[in-house]
Amino acid sequence: MAVSTILKSVRCKAVCFLILFSLYCIQVNAQHVPAIHRCGAEMYNKAMEAKFPGYIESLQAAFNNAVNSPSPRSGEVYRIPVVFHVIYNTDKQNIPDSCIYNQIKVLNDAYRNRHADTANTRAIFKPLAGDAEIEFFLADTDPDGNPTSGITRTHTDIETFGDITIIIGGFNLDYFEQMKFTDKGGHDAWPTNKYLNIWVADAGFNFLGIYLPALLGLATPPRYPSLPDNWPEGSVDGIVDGVFLQYQTIGNNNPYKDDLQGLVSAGRTAVHEIGHYFGLRHINGDEDCGDDGIDDTPEMVLSTQEAGSCPGADINTCNSDQPDDLPDMWENYMDYSNDICQTLFTAGQVNHMRKVLTTQRDTLYNWPLKTEKVLQRHLSLYPNPAQNEFRLIDMGPGGALSVRDAFGLEVIKIDKLKDNTVSIRDLPSGFYVITYRHKKQYFSGKLIVSR
Ligand SMILES: [Zn+2]
Repeated sequence: MAVSTILKSVRCKAVCFLILFSLYCIQVNAQHVPAIHRCGAEMYNKAMEAKFPGYIESLQAAFNNAVNSPSPRSGEVYRIPVVFHVIYNTDKQNIPDSCIYNQIKVLNDAYRNRHADTANTRAIFKPLAGDAEIEFFLADTDPDGNPTSGITRTHTDIETFGDITIIIGGFNLDYFEQMKFTDKGGHDAWPTNKYLNIWVADAGFNFLGIYLPALLGLATPPRYPSLPDNWPEGSVDGIVDGVFLQYQTIGNNNPYKDDLQGLVSAGRTAVHEIGHYFGLRHINGDEDCGDDGIDDTPEMVLSTQEAGSCPGADINTCNSDQPDDLPDMWENYMDYSNDICQTLFTAGQVNHMRKVLTTQRDTLYNWPLKTEKVLQRHLSLYPNPAQNEFRLIDMGPGGALSVRDAFGLEVIKIDKLKDNTVSIRDLPSGFYVITYRHKKQYFSGKLIVSR
């Protein structure tokens, strides 16, 4: 290529970039903030389809497979072990444990339909809200069988995993997913069939000293079969399976949430992305008045992303003039509305997620339950409920004991238990998980503290 042609090409790219960047800045300064991608589902699926033809077909097959599966019995709560991989370049990106603990609480409140602000759900939608009966806890055992906090922290030389392609609607998949590999500056997944892996990192970028958030969350949806026949030889399924979350979105107590222009403030990004992880789609089906395949979510166009407010109570962007037509359900976690507006999954969405969990992601809860059953047989706690102390029954001393609260926070740690009595005078009333490692065996049990 001649030098003049190269210069022309470089100049053209620079001009294009500046035009696109100017458009982006105009958008950022407007009241609506479409420049921030709340969710990367569409761009990720397109990039995966380009890399592995047949990918989108496998998502549809997974969806259909779930629809045709029997509904799991209600009343059975599934508990999912979660590991957070915090990948940071700056101290700011290395968010505190308190944000992660809070995020677990927000997730459990959302998936059990018990957020205090469910009271804000409009009366017309309250009967549609469902309890997913899914709970999350920070993993207490790592893949090698050792006790863990459920949080890994990795310093990386990569300043950000985002780039300009995200802003202009493209997606550099290989660059982004470096965060999921230890040898590329991130952290390898823990076995994705046993843990829900959540990578926390920065996918924004700096331009001329201005910080630009670009993508807040992304999840890998279930596929069926896990690898289509036509995928290239050597393709590996599962090792990138999980959720990415922009670090400022974690928890409703995140000290850096103001970076996100008032759009995200209450930890709902994780709720939304895990909805995708369990097979849900955006309720507009990713097109104006489209279908998400769930019967009880009303049709709507993509909602606006208002900073700090919710759409109007009567807004109905796909009005069919039918008597049973419902207004836009901007309270739904699978919408794009502001965090403060989102309060519900519908009964139909809940049923779909439980079908996916019990058919295509069933290994997530089977293995800890199996462990727990063994432990419940061997580890008895007395009294239970307890007030000031409890004892381990039929267990020898000398093992390592840990007490975690309902958010996964370790509140008591004893490296070598002297006798079988444990003081709990400082613990508030509530539900606790007791784990005990003794003679290379690992046990756990549940304790209620009641005052
Ligand atoms: Zn989404």
